[in-house]
Parts: sequence; structure tokens; C-alpha cells
Amino acid sequence: MSQSPLLRPSREEAEDAIRTLLRWAGEDPSREGLLDTPGRVVRSYEEFFAGYGEDPSSILSRTFSEVDDYDEIVLLRDIRFESHCEHHMVPIIGVAHVAYLPSKRVVGISKLARVVDAFSRRLQIQERLTAQIANTINDVLQPHGVAVILEAGHQCMTTRGVHRPGVSMVTSRMLGIFRTNSDTRRELMSMLNRPSVATAQL
Ligand SMILES: [Zn+2]
Repeated sequence: MSQSPLLRPSREEAEDAIRTLLRWAGEDPSREGLLDTPGRVVRSYEEFFAGYGEDPSSILSRTFSEVDDYDEIVLLRDIRFESHCEHHMVPIIGVAHVAYLPSKRVVGISKLARVVDAFSRRLQIQERLTAQIANTINDVLQPHGVAVILEAGHQCMTTRGVHRPGVSMVTSRMLGIFRTNSDTRRELMSMLNRPSVATAQL
């Protein structure tokens, strides 16, 4: 019998699925140390994939318009994010740099980080995650331009398959003036290359 993909299984069904995977791995799910594992895994999934319950556009909907004609780049850099690759369901961990050039409206900086979280906490590929963050900021704030750069390690490359630790993947999406004006892009790069007061912990 086929099931509708939109019909969310019960918590019990989800926990049963974990018991199946434990048996598949060669384990005995009734072993004492594993008794509570299905429940813990399902609760972890609620955290890892909390982004499905969030609307990133509405996160950006409260903006400030009185910015005294501030017309320079706003850059939030080294935003740590944790996502999961949709091909292997293992972590993608990295940092995001998010910049925009406001036209009329600015948004609280914590909101930019929350947009990164809302899209990260889903099954992703890094290219789409990068584009979704940039497109949403562009659509809601309608700035002169948006730049999003992601740098991340993929555990599907480091802990399985080709086993290549220390490799990071960099993706970027430039919209508006960051795409069309090389001076603006260069200014962004020099802001990114400046030593940071905070230290990113990858
Ligand atoms: Zn993968």
C-alpha cells in the first residue's frame, strides 16, 4: 500500500524505523544500552530538522526603515550552521557569510542568522542552501544586492565514501549589485579577508 508523503508518521512509527536500522546494522534493539535510543534519535531529528516548521520569509518581515540613509554593505560573517546532506543524511557543518546592500530597509542581524538556521535545519545540498538564503533575503528586503558565501565540511566525504577529511566546499550566490559591480564585490571580499575579532569554531 502506498502512503501519502505528506502524511506524517507517528512518533511510534518513527521509533520503529530506528529499531529496524539498528537491526540492519547488526544490533539487538532490546539490548539495555539501546532501549532508549530510538526515542533519543527521534528527538534529535526534531532538532536537526526544525527548519521545516519555520517560515524564513516571515523571520525577515520586521524591518527598520529609519537608518539615516545608511547605504553601505551590511555583512554578518562566520555564522556557524549545521545541516544534513540529503543524499546520506549526515552532517554538513560550516560557516555562512551573509551580506546585503540595503535600499530602504534593514533587518536585525540576528534575523539573518535565523534565516540561515531555518534553511540549514532541513535536508539540503550546499548549493541549494546557499541559493535559498540569498533569494529569500533578496525577495523580502529588496536590497540593492545580496551575497551569500558558505564554507562547509561534509561528513559524507570525511567519514564514508572517499574519506577525505580537511576538505571544505565553498559555494556562493551573488545577486544585484554584488553580481554586476566588481568594485562592490571586491569591497565585500576585503571585508571578509579582514582579521575577525571573533573566532569561528568549525
Ligand atoms: Zn552526502
